[in-house]
Amino acid sequence: MADKKWRRAVVLGGSMAGLLVSRVLSEVYDEVIVVDRDELADLPGHRRGVPQGRHVHGLLARGQQIAEELFPGITAELVASGVVTGDMTGNVRWIMDGEPMGDSHSGLLTVSADRPTLERHVRARVRALANVRFQDRCEATGLRFSPDGGRVTGVRTVDGASRGTTVDADMVVDTMGRGSRTGRWLTEAAGPGRRRNGPGSASCTPPARTASRPIPRPATSPWTSSRRPTIRGAGSAPVSTATAIW
Ligand SMILES: Cc1cc2nc3c(=O)[nH]c(=O)nc-3n(C[C@H](O)[C@H](O)[C@H](O)COP(=O)(O)OP(=O)(O)OC[C@H]3O[C@@H](n4cnc5c(N)ncnc54)[C@H](O)[C@@H]3O)c2cc1C
Repeated sequence: MADKKWRRAVVLGGSMAGLLVSRVLSEVYDEVIVVDRDELADLPGHRRGVPQGRHVHGLLARGQQIAEELFPGITAELVASGVVTGDMTGNVRWIMDGEPMGDSHSGLLTVSADRPTLERHVRARVRALANVRFQDRCEATGLRFSPDGGRVTGVRTVDGASRGTTVDADMVVDTMGRGSRTGRWLTEAAGPGRRRNGPGSASCTPPARTASRPIPRPATSPWTSSRRPTIRGAGSAPVSTATAIW
């Protein structure tokens, strides 16, 4: 396998971003290791590291095109497993600023897989790559630097049995989502009062809360009755022939 340009990449976080990044890196690295603190068993159902996965999730048009490019045939595979596809505005019911949006057809394909299903199919494709290895139930706890502190050379991890290890890497990619501590690790490594040059970050607290639940798939929009919606924004997307998430 030593025909690639670089030796080893470590991807921290094995969720959607981590899986797609691993697929791309597998083309240029001899070995790609995906580290995730969850158990990435290929069982149906939600997992702890992706709490947002219970909410309405769909693969929008550009995401579908990229997924298809990286994993040819994945859309047909999802459909064969019971996932619904359709027009992005024709298939999904939206409320914007309290107003139900009328039916329209955008011509853009959306894949209404629930999040665990989508992730499971993409993960199976990545698992099938010979030079990608998963290290799940393994938490990233820090970075290792070159002696001059100018380069990241590895990752510190702790596995499910509390065993600590350092994994060497020519490249480390952080796809740990919103709970990532990479910014803190870089700042700590730079020393007191010093900032390490790196990507800046910004955060905001949305002025709203999100709630979702599965409902029997309605024949029509669930708010076409006399009850006007009082919520600011909402969506209902079919996720199978029988179920929608609202
Ligand atoms: C209500 C809601 C609805 C959404 N709807 C959509 C939608 O319809 N379509 C869409 O495309 N996006 C949607 N999103 C956004 C989408 O959920 C996120 O953009 C996406 O999950 C981010 O993926 P990620 O791989 O970057 O991170 P995450 O999915 O958050 O995954 C982070 C991963 O890192 C792992 N991890 C974290 N810390 C560590 C550590 N220290 N060591 C090892 N592993 C670690 C976690 O276990 C997890 O697997 C929605 C988000 C919300 C909140």
